[in-house]
Amino acid sequence: MVIGACAPSLHEQTFRNTVMRAGLNPYLYYHVGIREQDSWVHSDDKEGATEKAIRLLAAGIAKARLLTPLEPIHLGAERHALVIGAGVAGLRAALDTAQQGIHVTLVEKASFLGGRMAQLNSIFPSGEAAVDLLKQLIHEVVEHPLITVFTQAKVTNVDGYIGNYEISIQQDGRGFQSDIEAEALMAACTQEVPNEFDYGITKRKVIYRACKNCYPPLPAVDWENYNGEPIQVDGKSIVLKNEPKLFNIKAGAIVMATGFDPYQPSQGEYGFSELPEVITLPQLIRFLALNHDKKELIWNGRKVRDVAFIHCVGSRQIEGVDEPQPDGQVNNYCSRVCCTATLHMIEELNKLYPDLNIYDLHEDIRTYGRGHEDYYLRVLESKARFLRFTGTERPIVMAAPSGDTHPVLVHIKDTFTYGDEIEIAADLVVLAVGMVPRTVDDLVQMLKISRGNDRFLLEVHPKLRPVETSVNGIVLAGTAQGPMNIQESLTAASAASAKVATLLGKSKVELPPFVAHVDADKCEGDGICIDICISEGALALVTFGENGNEVKRAVVTPANCAGCGACVGVCPNRAIDVQAWTLAQYEAMVDAIAMDYDFAEEVA
Ligand SMILES: Cc1cc2nc3c(=O)[nH]c(=O)nc-3n(C[C@H](O)[C@H](O)[C@H](O)COP(=O)(O)OP(=O)(O)OC[C@H]3O[C@@H](n4cnc5c(N)ncnc54)[C@H](O)[C@@H]3O)c2cc1C
Repeated sequence: MVIGACAPSLHEQTFRNTVMRAGLNPYLYYHVGIREQDSWVHSDDKEGATEKAIRLLAAGIAKARLLTPLEPIHLGAERHALVIGAGVAGLRAALDTAQQGIHVTLVEKASFLGGRMAQLNSIFPSGEAAVDLLKQLIHEVVEHPLITVFTQAKVTNVDGYIGNYEISIQQDGRGFQSDIEAEALMAACTQEVPNEFDYGITKRKVIYRACKNCYPPLPAVDWENYNGEPIQVDGKSIVLKNEPKLFNIKAGAIVMATGFDPYQPSQGEYGFSELPEVITLPQLIRFLALNHDKKELIWNGRKVRDVAFIHCVGSRQIEGVDEPQPDGQVNNYCSRVCCTATLHMIEELNKLYPDLNIYDLHEDIRTYGRGHEDYYLRVLESKARFLRFTGTERPIVMAAPSGDTHPVLVHIKDTFTYGDEIEIAADLVVLAVGMVPRTVDDLVQMLKISRGNDRFLLEVHPKLRPVETSVNGIVLAGTAQGPMNIQESLTAASAASAKVATLLGKSKVELPPFVAHVDADKCEGDGICIDICISEGALALVTFGENGNEVKRAVVTPANCAGCGACVGVCPNRAIDVQAWTLAQYEAMVDAIAMDYDFAEEVA
């Protein structure tokens, strides 16, 4: 059967299923895409487009004549999933997957669970405490009999394919003999480093807990920063030693939930890291989490009277205006959560410090979720002042002259007042920084998954396969894929886990048969196909005994083959083909396309 219609990516499977219901082998079907390949691109030439449609369909029919019945590839699958990253998305994905009866190994590289959500205080849109919600989720995860959690752990190698991944994991040692020793060592430890949990606004010891309610509740050693000096406890001098554990697991599917980092402004961007009064929104969130009970907002030893928030820092960047990121690109995407997070923060500040003067400097306000616009409307009603800049004329932040009433001046060309130049004297400037993906280059290479232009991990198709990667069995959850709020991260995580359950639920997986196939009669075993093959483990040269002689032939492992056809092009004997895309089929298609037609007669 041949159908000429819109994109095969949208409808091929539907028609394959129809063909199967009609009693035919589903692979005796070919879909000719005459929308993207024809009617859309030639909308200004109807006659030409009709002629092209005829040629494309003729090619499809020529190919269909040579189709042969095929069977999908069936593989056994481990009922075990690996989830990488234990932020809110990874935790949810692990729990949902385990609740479907599938074992889960949850690997978190940090010492404590919860990811970025653990660093938030009250969260939009409900105003609930992030720690309370996380505590419940973490409790359910760690208590679940099918979930094993490893903190301070990372994936060091991945081999295999969907259903059968072999994964090597390395977990740092705990460093303590007992819990009592851990507490005593933490109390006695004097080495301090900037506290990344508070985005560097506080310090912590190298033996530490991330926060009061962190999980696990036991202290951890920061092996990266511990200087190896002995720590004195009860007259004993103790040197801590990291003895990492290495172990392997088997998993049928992998969930990437490696999350995001807040954008780090460059030196001098809006005065950041040059003026102590310029901080980021995540830093202010941590500062208030630690100081919300104080009657006055004091920053850098001075009472804060005037605060200016600047939106879109590190997001919606413009080429030629903004400094490119290390990969040469600008972050031209919207980070989606910063507008509501900023307005939520302004509302919190209004409640805590009613005397505060707040200025909201934005290019646009994008409060897109249910209940998010309410923050905007409420803050509009408050005494906070809104000013608007354009992407090419951003505010300028500078130190105020000495003796000035405020330490910082913010200049803005305000489009609300038709371009008036306005100067704001501020005690604190808060940069609403966007989201960037975490650096997971090693995992991207190991898993051979793709990233988008924005460097976030890429799904196969945003609408049709929104959490699957181009590698079968590897799915995405949460902000590893792009900026999302907590609700969206949870939804994505549940979708990822539903995908995992579909893949592994029956302990076997089914793959399409479009993989390389070797004609043993033609293969002379020269191995060029193996040299060119980019899919690890897809092709191997195997020695066979034949009529008392040893012969070498290429052998395909279908589960590892991506069906790219690179091997087909290099075989001097035409001994290898991709099933359903054979050289003979291509040749028949080319002949049909190039044939002479009497279009007038055909159209009639
Ligand atoms: C300033 C700010 C305020 C916000 N406020 C709100 C709010 O009020 N309400 C709301 O809904 N959303 C808010 N958000 C968004 C919210 O923080 C995210 O939606 C959520 O934290 C995303 O969770 P995640 O699990 O996808 O990522 P993360 O929280 O980043 O978790 C990823 C986890 O993966 C781990 N990891 C990374 N790489 C590896 C690796 N190689 N191996 C093992 N583990 C790894 C990390 O250590 C981390 O624990 C805010 C965001 C920002 C920036």
